[in-house]
Amino acid sequence: MIEAGLGIYAIAIPALLLFALAGAEYIWPRRALVLGRYPRWRTHALFFATNAVVGRILSFFVVIGVAATWADAHRFGMLHILNWPFWAQALMAFVVLDFAVWLQHFAMHRFAFFWPMHAVHHSDRDLDVTTALRFHPFELIVSTFYKSAMVALLGVPLAVALAFELWLNANALFNHSNIRLPKYLDRMLRTFFVTPDMHLVHHSVIVAEQKSNFGFALSIWDRLFGTYCAESMVGAENQKIGLSQFDDQRPSAFVWSMKQPMT
Ligand SMILES: [Zn+2]
Repeated sequence: MIEAGLGIYAIAIPALLLFALAGAEYIWPRRALVLGRYPRWRTHALFFATNAVVGRILSFFVVIGVAATWADAHRFGMLHILNWPFWAQALMAFVVLDFAVWLQHFAMHRFAFFWPMHAVHHSDRDLDVTTALRFHPFELIVSTFYKSAMVALLGVPLAVALAFELWLNANALFNHSNIRLPKYLDRMLRTFFVTPDMHLVHHSVIVAEQKSNFGFALSIWDRLFGTYCAESMVGAENQKIGLSQFDDQRPSAFVWSMKQPMT
C-alpha cells in the first residue's frame, strides 16, 4: 500500500518538475537548440511511453519495490545487520545508492557491451529537460536489475528505496535542463550536487569530456575519483553536444534512435 501511495508522487512530482523546468528553459535558456524542440520532444515522449510499457512488464519480474519488500521480509542486507536508526539507514542508503548509480554510469562508458545502449542517450544533439527521458529500454532493463540487486544487498527500507528513485529522477530532470543558472548559484550548488552546466560537459562531442562528470545527484564521486571537469576545453558557450558520428537530423527520429544500439 505504501508503494501505491508513493507511486502517485513518483509520477506527479517528476511530471510537475518537468513542466516547471520546461517553463524555466523557455524563460532563461542556457543555449540555442541545434535541432529545436520538435521533433525531439515527440521522440522523447515516445521514449517515455516505451519505457513505461517496458517498466510495467519488468515489474512482473523484478522491481525496486519488490527487492526492498523481499529484503525486509527476510531480514536480508547490510542495513538489517547494522540495525541503525531509520534516519541513519536512510542517509546511508541514499549515499551508497547514489554511488552505485555513479558506478553504473561509469561502466556504461567504460565497457563495450554497455556503451551502444547508453550512446542512445548521448546521441541527442541538444540538452533539455526531455533528454532525461531519452534512455533506451535496454538501459532501463539493466539499471532496473542492477538497482534492485543493490537495494536487496543493502536491505534498503521500501519507503527509502522509492524516495531515492524519486530523488534520482528529479535530479536527472534538473541536470539535463537547458536553464541558465546565475554563476554564483551554479558554483554553490556544485559543491554538493550535479548542476546543468556540470552535466553539460558530460554530453560534449569531445570523447574525453564524455568520460567526466558521471554523477547524477551528488558531485562528490567525480571529485573523489578524479573525473570532475568544470567546463569544456572549448568553453561552455562553444561546446557541441552529442556524438560526432551523428552530426545530422537522425538523432531526433524515434525509430532511428531505437535501432541505434543494433547498428
Ligand atoms: Zn553518459
